Amino acid sequence: MASERIESIKSLFTAKSAKVETNKGEQYYANLYEKCKTRLESLQELPPVSNKIKIESALEDEGVNRRDFLKWASATTAMLMLPASFTPLVAKAATLMNRVPVIWIELQDCAGNSEALLRSDGPKVDEIILDIISLEFQETLMAASGHQAEKQLEDAIATFKGKYLLFVEGSVPMGMDGQFGTIGAKAETFYDHLKRVSDDAAAVVAVGSCATFGGIPAAAPNPTDAKGVMEVVNGKPIINIPACPANPANMVGVLLHYVLTGQIPELDSLLRPKFAFGYRIHDNCERRAHFDAGEYVEEWGDTGAKNNFCLYKMGCKGPMTFNNCSIVRYNEGVNWPIGVGRGCIGCSEPDFWDKYAYERPMANANIKAPTGGVEKTVDQFGLGLLTAAGIGIGIHAAASVVAGKKGETNE
Ligand code: SF4
Ligand code: SF4
Repeated sequence: MASERIESIKSLFTAKSAKVETNKGEQYYANLYEKCKTRLESLQELPPVSNKIKIESALEDEGVNRRDFLKWASATTAMLMLPASFTPLVAKAATLMNRVPVIWIELQDCAGNSEALLRSDGPKVDEIILDIISLEFQETLMAASGHQAEKQLEDAIATFKGKYLLFVEGSVPMGMDGQFGTIGAKAETFYDHLKRVSDDAAAVVAVGSCATFGGIPAAAPNPTDAKGVMEVVNGKPIINIPACPANPANMVGVLLHYVLTGQIPELDSLLRPKFAFGYRIHDNCERRAHFDAGEYVEEWGDTGAKNNFCLYKMGCKGPMTFNNCSIVRYNEGVNWPIGVGRGCIGCSEPDFWDKYAYERPMANANIKAPTGGVEKTVDQFGLGLLTAAGIGIGIHAAASVVAGKKGETNE
């Protein structure tokens, strides 16, 4: 079963990557290959940062054999938009994940992304790999608390200064001088806490919809003046992994890319890795044929719902949402929201709660469309259904606003 799933993921990524891959030419990849090989050789010389668990024993404990691991490496290579020749390097990088220290802090959040780090029985290889990373501080998962936990964080910052990846979960409440959220004995505001820990990080990874774009805390009327990390952190490389929760496969992808290349992955205008967010939900949806055929669910529980028809009329925002959850899926790859009959609410897009999370279709989605055809139909169709309230903020408008903010804050 696990092998079938890995195969299907691999074929999807192989097929779709042709659409989003930036073809950089053979020489580029030959140089990159050598660079990655050298980096991995140097990392291998280093002892594990702290986590001594070996991937071989972690895989064995979970009943994943070497063959399945190599299939995973092959699928992940395709996911990272690298040529198949990189597969042995990706497999090697996975064994060296514990050479890069990770600090994970939580701000205004529900800990849903931390929950995604944990997993039930039968985890995918991605989730097993999260077990072997050197997670130096993670307040939900670690045993220490209070002063002990604070000391652990101080020690991790001092020991790995300039070398650790900082994962941030939750938005940053800026209202009332940050007093909506304080932490530790010194009652440091979340903003000050983030600033202090990010100052010495090699890069900052914002995980989940709240840390990336403010998420639900930032929804109108945004009482705490919640912001995403990229709006308040300056002078550091920032990678956004949105979604509610972020998919563990994408967390692993970012970490693996960093271990392999020493660099952050190529990002889109919203600072999302292109390998994960270069796909539009609507283009990789198993209900798409029904959309094209004009077969829609008109009411919950109707014949269309029973026949897995398209959820557009029920408010699905797949046409304006970019994420790979239709390909990678959730919960050990078992399913994803549209697969279980619920429309996409655009959780990986900025301001999704205000703009997308309602059961009405949108017009003027401003979808990047090929000429005419089906895409045009989406807008015309939505226009016909919309009420006079007229909601229509486009994804590209949102992208421009956030890209503008990025320009202001990340210079
Ligand atoms: S509108 Fe939603 S359910 Fe319909 S094809 Fe697009 S993504 Fe799938
Ligand atoms: S289907 Fe849409 S709402 Fe659901 S997880 Fe994917 S991007 Fe988020």
